[in-house]
Amino acid sequence: MPEFRQEPLSGRWVIIAEDRAARPSEFVSQPTRRAKERCPFCAGNEEETPDAVAIYPAGATWQVRVIPNKYPAAVPPGDTCSKEMNCEGDRRVASDLSQSMAPASCVARAGVGVHEVIIESPRHVASFSELTDEQAHCSFLAYRDRLRMASHNSQLAYGLVFKNCRGGGGATLEHVHSQLLATSIVPNEVEQELRSTSRHFEQRQQCLVCSLLDEELSARARIVAETSRFVAYCPFASRFPYETWIVPRQHLSRFESAATNLFAELTQLVRAHVDSLEHLFPDVAYNYWIHTAPFHVACEDYFHWRIVLIPRVTTQAGYEWATGSFVNPVAPESAARKLREG
Ligand SMILES: [Zn+2]
Ligand SMILES: [Zn+2]
Repeated sequence: MPEFRQEPLSGRWVIIAEDRAARPSEFVSQPTRRAKERCPFCAGNEEETPDAVAIYPAGATWQVRVIPNKYPAAVPPGDTCSKEMNCEGDRRVASDLSQSMAPASCVARAGVGVHEVIIESPRHVASFSELTDEQAHCSFLAYRDRLRMASHNSQLAYGLVFKNCRGGGGATLEHVHSQLLATSIVPNEVEQELRSTSRHFEQRQQCLVCSLLDEELSARARIVAETSRFVAYCPFASRFPYETWIVPRQHLSRFESAATNLFAELTQLVRAHVDSLEHLFPDVAYNYWIHTAPFHVACEDYFHWRIVLIPRVTTQAGYEWATGSFVNPVAPESAARKLREG
């Protein structure tokens, strides 16, 4: 029987419809494509990319290398207008109803931001599950440090670290990497979560994510894995089959403030999870991202960071695009059970 569920952070409705045909065996896994051409992210080809802004471990042969994105979705803060940015001087290009964001000196469509690529291994591998312990650890150090660096810039409002793995996950290069995109805008999804979590805090003096985590730990039905510091579970109103949140047990708003000693457990958990997914769906495309607080909003009491991980085993169709609601053919209770077994 289909069931409507509402996700309390986003307010988004999800229809859990398990009878709707999609058994795991019916999913089509994405074929692995090994790069045929010379890969700019492989060790030895560094001259084909912009110079590194950071390498890990520092002062040694790199295991993780951070470079500016060659094709950025946003321009660095402080850059002035240029013809390439479509600047039309002082002429307003947006109407009163259509806002455009621009540096203070310009009303053109210049998106201010930082867009970096975190290359997570010198070897040509595709997935987080193929990293060594050191590469996995250095990747999370890089996520934190680069996010922290961006947070110090008053022109930037939000930073998102995200991974697109394999073509079906939106990766244009197969070589394992993640990205940091820090922008002068706060994404709508995060704005909405600020509203719902601050309201919950005002009413109950509790963090909504801490409360949800307590509920999940009592119910047990959707727990995938636990460590002393983190819990991985499939949320009650999962948008997608096998959507998983990895939540720190300790209340902390900002991933960029995370202590280094969290990362051994965290990387192990992420890798074990990706392993399970790839066991269920060989060569599956997936995305993960770090959902963290906006840089300059005082929301320490009620915002709680997490990692969201979504394998790409279904596609969004007309209903999802039209409504922002989702039909999920795998109940999170079933997904968590399969992941625990996987
Ligand atoms: Zn490569
Ligand atoms: Zn919390």
